[in-house]
Amino acid sequence: MQDPVDAVGLSELPLENLVACHECDLLMRKPELAHGEKAVCPRCGYELYANRYNVVQRSLALVIAALLLFLPANFLPIMQLNLLGQSSNDTVWSGVVALFDTGMQSVSVIVFLCSMGIPLLKLLCQLTVLLSIRFDVGRSYGLLLYRIYHHIREWGMLEVYFMGVLVAIVKLADMAAITVGLGLVCFIGLLLIQVWLEVVMSPHQIWQALSGEDAHAGD
Ligand SMILES: [Zn+2]
Repeated sequence: MQDPVDAVGLSELPLENLVACHECDLLMRKPELAHGEKAVCPRCGYELYANRYNVVQRSLALVIAALLLFLPANFLPIMQLNLLGQSSNDTVWSGVVALFDTGMQSVSVIVFLCSMGIPLLKLLCQLTVLLSIRFDVGRSYGLLLYRIYHHIREWGMLEVYFMGVLVAIVKLADMAAITVGLGLVCFIGLLLIQVWLEVVMSPHQIWQALSGEDAHAGD
C-alpha cells in the first residue's frame, strides 16, 4: 500500500516518475516497490501495479498448462445428452460445425472466434512474449505481440461461453438426461488458469521487461 502523494511538486517531476490511476485518473508519484508489494490508488483502491515474484517463469508455466488444456477443452465432449433414446456428445467444435451446417454461418464464425480462435491467439501471443523475455531474443516482436494481445483480449469470451453452457445444462436438465463430459472439466480448468494468468502476468513488469528497463521480471 502506498500513501497518497501531495499534488505540490508533481509538475516538476519527470514523466517516468509519475503514474496515473486507470480508473479515476489520479496522478501520483510512482512508488518504488519491493518484491511482493503492490501499489494501490489511494482514492479508488484500484491496483496500479504490482511487483510479483518470478513473473515470467510462473506465467510460462500457466500458459503451457492452458495450451495443454486447449485441445481437450474444445474437442472432448462438454456434455452427453440423452433424449428419447437418442444420445449425442457435444463439444465446442461440434457446436461451431452444427451452427455452420444449419445455415448460421456468420454466427458460427463469431462463436468460433470468441470461443476458440481468439483464446488460442491470446495464449500464443502470451507464450511468445514470455519466451522473448525469458531467452532475451526478439523483444521488439515481443512488444508488438504484447500490443496485439491487449487489443484482442476483450474478444476472447470463454466466460460467456461457459455461462451459455451452464444455462443450457439447467434448462435441459428436466427434459433430458445430461452427463457432464471431460471436456467441461478441461474447459473450466482452462478458464481458471486464464484468470490466474491475468493476475500473475503483471502488465507493468512485462512492459518493463520488454523495453529492457527491468531486471526483476525474470527473478
Ligand atoms: Zn484511482
